[in-house]
Amino acid sequence: MVIFKKIADIQSYIISQRAQNRNIGFVPTMGALHNGHISLVKHAKDVADIVVSSIFVNPTQFNDAKDFEKYPVSIEDDVKMLIEAGCDILLLPAVDEMYPDGSGKMPTFDFGYLDTILEGEKRPGHFKGVGQVVARLLDIVKPDILVMGQKDYQQCMVVKSLLLQTGSNAKMHIAPTQREADGLAMSSRNRRLTEPQRALAGTIYQCLVSIQTKQDEGNFTLVQKECTDLLTTKGFEVEYISLADADNLTLLSNYQGGRPMVALIAARIGEIRLIDNMLLQ
Ligand code: AMP
Repeated sequence: MVIFKKIADIQSYIISQRAQNRNIGFVPTMGALHNGHISLVKHAKDVADIVVSSIFVNPTQFNDAKDFEKYPVSIEDDVKMLIEAGCDILLLPAVDEMYPDGSGKMPTFDFGYLDTILEGEKRPGHFKGVGQVVARLLDIVKPDILVMGQKDYQQCMVVKSLLLQTGSNAKMHIAPTQREADGLAMSSRNRRLTEPQRALAGTIYQCLVSIQTKQDEGNFTLVQKECTDLLTTKGFEVEYISLADADNLTLLSNYQGGRPMVALIAARIGEIRLIDNMLLQ
């Protein structure tokens, strides 16, 4: 795996790869890698000739300064995992390399409705930062295929909108959420859970399963309350338990037969904010 810290260097390397008719799959990350990230790299490897990954903890997408400061960093382990997974190129830029004129000078994008609900509502400015960094990374890597995780469902929709707005030719592939044995969605932030918190964290997945299985009963409000009560009893602070149209994220007050739906949850346990979602079958 070739590691680049300078954008000019990775750009000329990618140009040389492209000149040999190799197509590029790209997996952007913030590091502290786990098997969820690695599954995206493996997917990229299956569908592209060259896999590029990036590790950049983007300061502009953190609406909470403490969350940014405490974001886990484990570059050495990350590099090992990427090599093992067969990643070809890693971009590891510093902040001033990504935003040489400061982030204030970067273009911003309007995600409309998507920025007003769920993560957009609870984390003001988050998707503005995501838009900035992904636009910058797409401009550097110019991938043919962009691989992202369903774990961040709303982010996938925001990035789809970004691809349209920037006229990017990249095709987006959404890879399934990788989970721990108890159902907890893998996340870099899980490393910060204490043992007792970790023991409870699978409850979020149990709630998603119950929203899925109880759809035949046709009373989302009831299931939502049961899940809120369960999580609250276990010490979570629930931010949202929502049901939405899976195609456009229109929020739904109840199950609607025949409509593609996704259930989404955000909850805090102690200092750690966890999100997860499930497409309803
Ligand atoms: P992050 O490093 O958290 O910014 O995530 C980088 C990419 O990995 C994003 O596309 C995430 O959606 C994806 N990802 C994070 N966790 C998982 C997971 N458990 N399973 C699959 N993909 C994931």
